[in-house]
Amino acid sequence: QGDPRLKAISDAIRVVPHFPKPGIMFQDITTLLLDHKAFKDTVDIFVDRYRDMDISVVAGVEARGFLFGPSIALAIGAKFVPLRKPKKLPGEVISEKYVLEYGNDCLEMHVGDVNHGERAIIIDDLVATGGTLSAAITLLERVGAEVVECACVIGLPEFKVIAIVCCQNNGRLLDMT
Ligand code: AMP
Repeated sequence: QGDPRLKAISDAIRVVPHFPKPGIMFQDITTLLLDHKAFKDTVDIFVDRYRDMDISVVAGVEARGFLFGPSIALAIGAKFVPLRKPKKLPGEVISEKYVLEYGNDCLEMHVGDVNHGERAIIIDDLVATGGTLSAAITLLERVGAEVVECACVIGLPEFKVIAIVCCQNNGRLLDMT
C-alpha cells in the first residue's frame, strides 16, 4: 500500500449498484481495461511481485481472470492455464465443485496442464467470500502443484485494490494484504 498507482487503478474501476441482482455492488473492471495506464500499472504490479518467485504456472479463473492472467504469464515467463466453468474444456478434465451464496458452481482444468511440483499463482478480478479461489487452489493442489499465492485486482468487503491472498497447503485461504 502507499503505492501512488493504486488510486488511479481504483478510480478506473466502475461500481454498478444492483447488478446483476438487487443489493450487489458490482465492481466493473471493464472500465479499467479502457485506461491504458491503469491497466498496465495493474499488470506491472503483479509482474513485479512474481517475476523472481520461480512461478511456472499462472492459472486464471473464468472469465475475468482471463483478462489479466495471460499478460502476467507472458511477462514472468510462465504458462497460462485457464480454469473454466463446466463443459467448456474439450479434453479430459478434473473438476472442483464449490458453494456460492445462492447455489453451486464448479471449476474445471485440463488434465496434464499442470505437473506435480510446479509453483503456481491464481489470478481473478475479485475476491469476496474466497469460495472461488478455494476451489481453484484445491484443483491445482489435487495435481500436486504448490499454490504460492492468489492475486486479485479487488478484495472485498472493504474494497482493497490489489488483493494478495495467502493460502496454505489444503485449499484454505489465509490473510489478505
Ligand atoms: P467469491 O467466490 O465469493 O470470492 O467471489 C468471487 C467471484 O465472484 C469472482 O470471480 C468475481 O468475479 C465474482 N464477484 C463476486 N462479487 C462480485 C462483485 N461485487 N463485483 C464483481 N464481481 C464479483
